[in-house]
Amino acid sequence: MRLYLLTMCLSWVGIGGWLICSSTSVAQEKSKLPAVPEGYDDTPVIPGQTWRVHDRHRPRPTAVKPGDELGQPPSDAVILFDGKDLSAWETSGKKGDDGKPAAAGWKVENGYMEVAARSGSIQTREHFGDCQLHIEWATPAEVKGKSQGRGNSGVIIMGRYEIQVLDSYENDTYPDGQAGSIYGQHPPEVNVARAPGKWQVYDIVFEAPRFDGDKLTKPARATVFHNGVLVQNAKEFVGPMAHKEVHPYRAHGLAGPLQLQDHGNPTRFRNIWYRPLRAEQTPWLSIEGGEGNGQGKKVVLIAGDEEYRSEEALPQLAKVLAKHHGFHTTVLFSTNPDTGLIDPNMQTNIPGMHHLKDADLVIMALRFRELPDWQMQYFVDYINAGKPVIGLRTATHAFNYSRAKDSPFSSWSFNSRKWEGGFGQQVLGDTWISHHGRHGSQSTRGVINESAKSHPVLRGVKDVWGPTDVYGIKHLPADANVLLWGQVLAGMQPADKAVDGVVNNPMMPLAWVREHKSAEGKVCKIFCTTMGASTDLQSEDLRRLIVNAAYWATGIEDKIPEKADVSIVGEFKPTMFGFRNDPKFWPSQKLTPTSFAN
Ligand code: MG
Repeated sequence: MRLYLLTMCLSWVGIGGWLICSSTSVAQEKSKLPAVPEGYDDTPVIPGQTWRVHDRHRPRPTAVKPGDELGQPPSDAVILFDGKDLSAWETSGKKGDDGKPAAAGWKVENGYMEVAARSGSIQTREHFGDCQLHIEWATPAEVKGKSQGRGNSGVIIMGRYEIQVLDSYENDTYPDGQAGSIYGQHPPEVNVARAPGKWQVYDIVFEAPRFDGDKLTKPARATVFHNGVLVQNAKEFVGPMAHKEVHPYRAHGLAGPLQLQDHGNPTRFRNIWYRPLRAEQTPWLSIEGGEGNGQGKKVVLIAGDEEYRSEEALPQLAKVLAKHHGFHTTVLFSTNPDTGLIDPNMQTNIPGMHHLKDADLVIMALRFRELPDWQMQYFVDYINAGKPVIGLRTATHAFNYSRAKDSPFSSWSFNSRKWEGGFGQQVLGDTWISHHGRHGSQSTRGVINESAKSHPVLRGVKDVWGPTDVYGIKHLPADANVLLWGQVLAGMQPADKAVDGVVNNPMMPLAWVREHKSAEGKVCKIFCTTMGASTDLQSEDLRRLIVNAAYWATGIEDKIPEKADVSIVGEFKPTMFGFRNDPKFWPSQKLTPTSFAN
């Protein structure tokens, strides 16, 4: 499949086995509306809705760019296979020698993948549920076997619900097992199979089942077009796929892997993509850049800490960078893989790390994450490529390998002995040391380091204050250039006095820049500050410091404005920092990336 570079309000990014694209946000669409939008406000209210007929105030649908040719992914699709490699896939249920899911062993050539018989079914590493799914397939041109033995495979959504793939061209078999069937349950309405070896296409609308505790409240359902012809119309699954049996539903979450079946026949697949059915199911937040000094540069912001509300802070930073400075921004979140909901306590899953493949800058506010190796690999590759990082607050202890101690990335752990102090100490400049000020009762004043006051990152920065305490810093290497010192204040108000005595003499480094030489000899520009809670971002000059750092890190420090515009975009009501240990708390908040879109 070809890659596109679309200009205008859309952008494509080609990366490994993924293609990601982003479209104009709803908020932007609204902002483009004329002062008096087209429509009416004196018409009757539509029964069952809150909108009037032709309501002028009704939100306009998000703009999505269709593929240039039929069947090609639209701008908001998540590409699962673009014909190049199987990096987005793993072998189902089979572990490698290291105990991790084994790499997918199917053949990839000429833009398609082909079942390597008996290497095992494969599945996507990312999990999803409700979707529009596009998938193209071809059974072997050379016909061997009969009935279920001809070109058998399957598209098994959430690893449970199968739309059968079979050579159904002049091949008798049981109808609920032919191509287009919901296997073992519903035959297709018609048999629209193409001849063996020809490419065929499924377009599927799938809705995951819903459960209340163990009780099924809504069965799974699929609408399937086979070669453009409707073969399943909103058909309900009676349960998960089974052979010669009926299996009842067993409660599960809202997301699962897409599986492709190894049934021993060399069936081929290509051009696989999906779209979440609703915008709130997109597992990251993309905000299109516009005009501005950062135009054309991509910033990925990674939120994932239990305490300092990075899920609030980073979307606001992303909006400031995009709306005022033109950077294209994408925010990733720690997310419960089963529900798709943001959960800062979920240390082991951040969907969308593949966005790092072509990022120009990463801004991270992670704490004690322990990502699966395939997600972490994107981060490690990014650092090894010598790309810049802005670390906020807990980023000094971003990773903690307390479970997967044999991971190839365990040395990135904040407490690593093998690579002393891990990512924090080695790359940013220090790891977790201590609360130097009293946590929750002594706030922090940023004091400009006189010898660095002409540094471009400090341009227009004077008054930095935040309610978080000063962190202890012990190992900062001599090459680090301290921009701000952290002065411990006696209380939680900006007017509070500095504490007398040794705690402020000398003061701890609060913000610094340095260069890190990666394992591959490349040099990363680093900006790090131990401030950065969402409440800290109420400080205009802290926002300015970080925005200036984004310019510096991406090589456009000569364009840093005298006083960068960092005015708040949309709604920003930061929550006071604190842990939320009740396991029911985050699920009850029902936060998704779109919660922070406006
Ligand atoms: Mg099958």
